[in-house]
Amino acid sequence: MSMVHFKLETDTDGIALVIWDSPGRSMNVIDLKVMEELSAIVEKVAGDAAIKGAVITSGKDTFCAGADLTMIEMLSREFTDVMREQGEEMGVHRLYDESRRLSQLYRRLETSGKPWVAAINGLTLGGGFELCLACHHRVAADNPKARVGLPEIKIGLFPGAGGTQRIARMMMPGDALQFLLKGDQVRLPQAKTMKIVDAVVPAGELIAAAKKWIKDGGKPVNPWDIDGFRLPGGLVYSKAGMMTFPPANAIYRRETYDNYPAARAIMQVVYEGLQLPIDLALRVESRWFARILRTPEAAAMIRSLFVSMQELNKGARRPPGIPPAKFKKIGIIGAGFMGASIGYVTALAGIEVVLIDRDQEAADKGKQHSHKLMTEQVNRGRATSADREALMSRITATADYGALADCDLVIEAVFEDRRVKAETIKKAQDVIGDKAIFASNTSTLPITSLAGEFKEPARFIGIHFFSPVERMMLVEIILGKETGDVALATAMDFVRTIRKTPIVVNDSRGFFANRCVLNYIQEGHLMFMEGVPAPMIENVARMAGMPVGPLSLNDEVALDLGWKILKATEADLGPQAINAEQKWLLEELVEKRGRLGRKNGKGFYDYPQGSPKRLWPGLSELQTKTLDPDTIDIQELKHRLLIVQSLEAARCVEEGVITDVREADVGSILGFGFAPFTGGTLSYIDMMGTKRFVDLCKKLEKKYGPRFQPPKLLVDMAQKGDTFYGRFAPAPAQAA
Ligand code: NAD
Repeated sequence: MSMVHFKLETDTDGIALVIWDSPGRSMNVIDLKVMEELSAIVEKVAGDAAIKGAVITSGKDTFCAGADLTMIEMLSREFTDVMREQGEEMGVHRLYDESRRLSQLYRRLETSGKPWVAAINGLTLGGGFELCLACHHRVAADNPKARVGLPEIKIGLFPGAGGTQRIARMMMPGDALQFLLKGDQVRLPQAKTMKIVDAVVPAGELIAAAKKWIKDGGKPVNPWDIDGFRLPGGLVYSKAGMMTFPPANAIYRRETYDNYPAARAIMQVVYEGLQLPIDLALRVESRWFARILRTPEAAAMIRSLFVSMQELNKGARRPPGIPPAKFKKIGIIGAGFMGASIGYVTALAGIEVVLIDRDQEAADKGKQHSHKLMTEQVNRGRATSADREALMSRITATADYGALADCDLVIEAVFEDRRVKAETIKKAQDVIGDKAIFASNTSTLPITSLAGEFKEPARFIGIHFFSPVERMMLVEIILGKETGDVALATAMDFVRTIRKTPIVVNDSRGFFANRCVLNYIQEGHLMFMEGVPAPMIENVARMAGMPVGPLSLNDEVALDLGWKILKATEADLGPQAINAEQKWLLEELVEKRGRLGRKNGKGFYDYPQGSPKRLWPGLSELQTKTLDPDTIDIQELKHRLLIVQSLEAARCVEEGVITDVREADVGSILGFGFAPFTGGTLSYIDMMGTKRFVDLCKKLEKKYGPRFQPPKLLVDMAQKGDTFYGRFAPAPAQAA
């Protein structure tokens, strides 16, 4: 068989070196052809008496990124076809048979009678790491960037090629469950402590060390295939087992609220698998894997969190034909809360930064923020002090606008005040070059109107970051009416250079993410005013899949900010544009009681020093009505909290604020943590079915008012049986 992905070289000691280097790919991934070739190699090694054993490594910087998810998507599609043509039973059989091929291949390697060693030269994840686990020994090259892990859970799947069974036989079951359920990628020292990597050696000695293990008589058998093998944590039905599994179930429920079928499957396969011999256990894993592949949650998560995210990161929405922007120097005006952090992430990407504030002291203070963040990294062992010094040397803090002269892009993050912004824009435009792009990080002011202050509105754009900038992966790029393609391409290239995900949004009050999230917070306020107990609001929100309840979230972003936005909306659009009950509540909290949120230690919660936050007991004074908790429909509360956000996303599509469904979905998960198992705000509607969603909205509209009124677009879609991904199928990605 001619090999495309692998090279096989056998040395004079009879040890085969298998080098995996898929052509035309930056990383190795597992697809059908890779499986076919690897299978032929395993048979060759097994059947050739001259070969004593094999070492597998990669010809790239990394070992393997995991399975090709388009292959997984194809499997699901095939299942649907077979099911339609030959019935569900045949479909399920076919899916099971096909989806376990990788598991069978690894099992064949493991039991082939020849020793296999994984020589891990860099990052190895998912199916790639499952291959390493099936090998009889794992040696890794000492490389601070290397990570190993099984992150499948993050896209609604779980390791289905033996990973759950081998991991659970290598460590205590509680640790195994954590590793599988968190999907963390661990560094080599930790992997060695966890005994999922046997040795870490200098990079230059990797292959020699791997071969030596075979030469020294390494056995072609894994511990679980040896008679008398004992599970690290003892039997499932034992005192120790009972100390693990029942509490693990409780933790699972607390962490997931049973929203993630793949997480539940991990609990199940580890529990069942550990009671069986390995071959049967692998079958159980495969059955569950095939079942999970059929869930709408897996399909939605793969689509949004992998396929769409990758497409957006590769510049799917970048205007074609514009050469990639190169950034030597970026100017940031306003070295406050946001500006200082934008400076940090820019410098972290290796770009020079000019950080400007009103005076030298304020600019220096902003620069110091980077020092603080880098010191945290140094203390955690994630960076060296030399890295910190290098980063600091890239940032020039100054009050002199003249320093902006040779910047490729300037981002303003001064006070949210139109007058201050206008003055800043005027001062900057006199010094920046003719080609430089000017961006505003405003969160509320229309980009089109700010662009009017700039000499050439085509070069003016919004680059809207979320706080904390260091952690939030989403950036909204806001187009003013006259923003040109070069400005858009430049902004996108910048966001991709600092390794964040851009979405393109047309100018609108609140842009996209904040529009949705403000509705979520408002719904929490209105539930409170109806008499729903505050703890119930918070818990139900997490049950619905949100990372934090609406009242907590309001505390985090500051109650006075919400109050300011509400007053501004009322002033601009009139009293019918705001909710009177919400106004009353915020006025009571902010104006009359000085409760501003976490920032002053007083909001919906109290923040006592040294102990966890707790709901403020005084809330009862503000709740003029109380409902008997036993009479409250929990499912309806959950629906309300998600539906208000999805409705706003649908309105954004209708109004043309969002023009690509992928951006609404990815943006809602990255921007405000919208229940990830749904695949995002629009996927949630598709998953429920547009008709059912619209019916539910109408029911809620009758009970709670016009905020639940479905927009015309949705009503039309419901009538026609359309979905967002059917009606607005994203354009194929344009490589940039
Ligand atoms: P901030 O008050 O912390 O920082 C503003 C900084 O701008 C201050 O350091 C101030 O000294 C400086 N400044 C004011 N006038 C200036 C001038 N003429 N020249 C140079 N510097 C000047 O405010 P922030 O929270 O960082 O917000 C900045 C911008 O970012 C606002 O437009 C805001 O709407 C937007 N934003 C804020 C958040 C957030 O979570 N805080 C999120 C997204 C966007």
